[in-house]
Amino acid sequence: MLHVGINGFGTIGKRVADAVRTQPDMTVAGVAKRSPNFEATIAHDRGYNLYAADGQAPFDGAGLTTAGTVHDMVEASDVVVDTTPGGVGATNASLYEEHDTPAIFQGGEDPDVADVSFNARANYDAAVGADTARVVSCNTTGLSRLLAPLRESYGVEKARITLVRRGGDPGQTSRGPINDTLPDPVEIPSHHGPDVQTVFPDLDIDTMGMKVPTTQMHTHSVNVTLDSEPTSEEVLDLLGRETRLFLVPETLGIDGAGKIKEYTRDAGRPRGDVWENCIWAESVTVEGRDLYLFQAIHQEADVVPENIDAVRALSERTASAEQSIERTNDALGVGR
Ligand code: NAD
Repeated sequence: MLHVGINGFGTIGKRVADAVRTQPDMTVAGVAKRSPNFEATIAHDRGYNLYAADGQAPFDGAGLTTAGTVHDMVEASDVVVDTTPGGVGATNASLYEEHDTPAIFQGGEDPDVADVSFNARANYDAAVGADTARVVSCNTTGLSRLLAPLRESYGVEKARITLVRRGGDPGQTSRGPINDTLPDPVEIPSHHGPDVQTVFPDLDIDTMGMKVPTTQMHTHSVNVTLDSEPTSEEVLDLLGRETRLFLVPETLGIDGAGKIKEYTRDAGRPRGDVWENCIWAESVTVEGRDLYLFQAIHQEADVVPENIDAVRALSERTASAEQSIERTNDALGVGR
């Protein structure tokens, strides 16, 4: 049984903890938090050992029992998943080194925070036995899952992606815009392309970003020039075999992210999470060597199964990427 500590119990951290709890080969060693807010009370109610990142006094004041400091949690963990805000993870790297505990960072960190930038479908093996890995951002995860099978089956000459990004997560009350459409970042290419190249160093990719007033999901407008000329049906068949790509059929009547989220809430998914890329099947179109499609990415959720696979890769407990992905999917309910 792998003991997994989670440092930072916010949007991503609480989902990773709950996902760890579903896995037959893992258990939550504990979660570290800074403040005794509502997420701390949820962690407590879930029965997770709560560790204080910045001293125990605020937790004592709120009547929440802690099991120790973040140092104790790192010591008690076989692997730590750092889900602190972007940039904070790098400041925690020495803590994990000090305890000789393998660590997983998130996409908000610079790539040099870890030995490898990780996506289970694209480069699981690169992280096997590494001391550290960085699970790439929600957008990069969504693009890596899509580009990996396209590269393997058809070759990719160039990818051009426009990312229409959610303004913020539902809990991020300070984010926006609330009534505008922003080129964001205004520089071209946006930082997303270089981030995808941390997974596929030889990929030719240009990305442009926009921000819009929604908290639901990101939407990608995708154009990939392939090396060969498959039919649209062949591409649909290829993508349909990928377990973390959901081809949204026309018959479901899903016209946007709102209905995707409604669908997963109706299906009883925890927090209505959408772990898969959602590709509108009708949009998958090939003209010559150019593939076009639209996909939606749930920013709060798609990196969660990837973190679970990264834990297995670092700990070298699983024979292959396929085995880990299947185990994660089965336990979490990905693809159901
Ligand atoms: P968040 O702000 O929701 O959660 C971070 C948590 O860490 C908060 O509870 C915060 O109080 C806590 N924290 C802050 N400093 C800490 C410290 N020193 N020690 C322990 N805890 C600390 O952030 P998030 O959205 O979960 O993002 C976490 C990471 O995941 C970032 O790198 C981000 O870029 C990445 N990411 C976020 C999303 C997303 O859409 N939310 C998607 C993919 C990746």
